[in-house]
Amino acid sequence: LLTDLPLAPRDPIIGLTEAFVADPRETKVNLGVGVYTDENGRVPLLRCVEQADERVVDGTRPWSYLPIDGLPAYRSAVAGLVFGDELAHERVAVVQGVGGTGGLKIAADLVHQTTPDARVLISDPSWENHRAIFTRAGLTVDSYPYYDSQTRSVDVDGMLDALRAAEAGTVVVLHACCHNPTGYDLTPQQWEQVRDVVVERGLVPLLDMAYQGFAHGIEEDGAAVRLFARTGVAMLVATSFSKSFSLYGERVGALSVVCADPDEAARVQSQLKVIIRTTYSNPPSHGALVVSTVLGDAELRQTWEDELGSMRERIRAMRTRLRDGLAAAIPGADVEHFVVQNGMFSYTGLSAEQMRALREEHGVYGLDSGRICVAALDERNLPTVIEAVAAVW
Ligand code: PMP
Repeated sequence: LLTDLPLAPRDPIIGLTEAFVADPRETKVNLGVGVYTDENGRVPLLRCVEQADERVVDGTRPWSYLPIDGLPAYRSAVAGLVFGDELAHERVAVVQGVGGTGGLKIAADLVHQTTPDARVLISDPSWENHRAIFTRAGLTVDSYPYYDSQTRSVDVDGMLDALRAAEAGTVVVLHACCHNPTGYDLTPQQWEQVRDVVVERGLVPLLDMAYQGFAHGIEEDGAAVRLFARTGVAMLVATSFSKSFSLYGERVGALSVVCADPDEAARVQSQLKVIIRTTYSNPPSHGALVVSTVLGDAELRQTWEDELGSMRERIRAMRTRLRDGLAAAIPGADVEHFVVQNGMFSYTGLSAEQMRALREEHGVYGLDSGRICVAALDERNLPTVIEAVAAVW
């Protein structure tokens, strides 16, 4: 059974973390992993989560199984957050997911079940797991142009051309906001262009929403999802609360599938349950209870919005400090992109060689693609990072 099994390649980010841990330099900085840390370099425990957690612990022990498709209150909270009043929730099949990754995997299995020959288009570049998840589900994955390194912006014409050339039924994975890894998002006008092509060509939009609230606000960051929801076409939305609730290890996410009518939604919901039942039977309860408690209580929800706003503003402040610091350290360099991008990640524009020099000579760890996590910057590590980037620029 296992004799000829080859060793799988190591996850590059895990490898980077191991190298970081082994680095003896006290000034080392880890900007490799996609985790938000606060001004003290720690993953925050949000107050809303702490307060909801007390209620959850008081009210829900012992733990029984959740329904296959998750906690009903959580599923309605997700529908409210993702779609608001944009469409009748009876038209949407929503299931709790094991993180955003779990939502994507269920989506991939559903697509494979309905259209095994479907092609999936992901952005070039994209979160590495997109290609892996859809490929493993048996689908053919290709990419559409997204980032133009020459102009340091989105190659929207290239993207639209690729979508126009795609066959009807092709699934198009779109980052709803805070594109990972580049940080470059579409403008509202560009989103409309993409929507028009997707509708005209009969493509299936799958919006991956892993960072709602990290770019401009909860409502603002949901705009792309709602733009597509208004078209009436079938669409899928993967939700992750890992970042927005700082609940990484609790694995809280969802998949929503917008259907033609309530009857179709009921059929989709039933098939999603079969996929879940045969994969992990039913989802974990704790994180979903915390999130639905926060979203279902006006006061806790306000606390969450405030805390999410603080995380967003801290990231913006770090981006500005990085831009200002680099502009001062490298006269004449164009470093505006650090404040143009959104969310936790930044494509620095540095080459793989420069990123290696950052690591080896300066102990600043980012990915070879040039991606750094700006949500891991703080007042203490900023001077080191600015000096190091300026040195390799
Ligand atoms: N999609 C994107 C674009 C992501 O960046 C991530 C997390 N890094 C996910 C999905 C998965 O999120 P989760 O950790 O909740 O599985």
